[in-house]
Amino acid sequence: MTSLRQLVVFDFDWSMADQDTDRWVFEVNAPEIRRWIEDNEGKIQFTDMIAQALRDAHARGVTRAQLENALRTMPFHPAMVRGITNLKAAGNTTFFCLSNANSVYIDVILKEKGLIPMFTEIITNPAQWDPSGLLVLRRRVDPSGPQHACKVGCSANMCKGEELEAFFARHAPTYDRVVYVGDGSNDFCPALRLRSQDMLLCRTFGGLHKRIAREGGLKCEVVYWTGAWEVEEVFKTRLT
Ligand SMILES: [Mg+2]
Ligand SMILES: [Zn+2]
Repeated sequence: MTSLRQLVVFDFDWSMADQDTDRWVFEVNAPEIRRWIEDNEGKIQFTDMIAQALRDAHARGVTRAQLENALRTMPFHPAMVRGITNLKAAGNTTFFCLSNANSVYIDVILKEKGLIPMFTEIITNPAQWDPSGLLVLRRRVDPSGPQHACKVGCSANMCKGEELEAFFARHAPTYDRVVYVGDGSNDFCPALRLRSQDMLLCRTFGGLHKRIAREGGLKCEVVYWTGAWEVEEVFKTRLT
């Protein structure tokens, strides 16, 4: 097993992390903006909505330090840190993070957990702090340029299936096994690209589980999990 060239792909919110970054930072610092997100989801493209929420929070005086502190204290299971660290130490696994959150949120949290060196690539929406302390967030796919061609229902900001295929193209030869850890409906598109020798680690709550039940069509093995300790166990017993 250990001679296999193996790739583990991680969704971030509710998959690697035990919370949703986009909602959590407002739950901690500006619950009225958290309510606004709840009331407007589906009416505005999600990345654009979070960019607006960040501008509103900045206008109300929420600081960079407050946002970063919320991220560093966000629930993140120690078993997930252990599972990733031990599997990486076994030597034959590449880790790729593919997320609809943003580069700043993921960077702050992975630094806090000591996981930055484990990840070969992080593909997500670009964000950066401006000098005033505003976090400026943009879509991965620029709305003014060519759009992705996804027919599976990925959000306009990114098609995770296309991003997964692009990762494979950048990192030839073909991986012997791909393991994808996800929970959301936008993880269904990349899951459809997995082969019979691959594995989907699907969290039991969330849109991915529902789409698999309703739409089917997956070629890979599906392993369901609820707590991060189960992911650690699969990494140890099946992937090492
Ligand atoms: Mg997720
Ligand atoms: Zn897609």
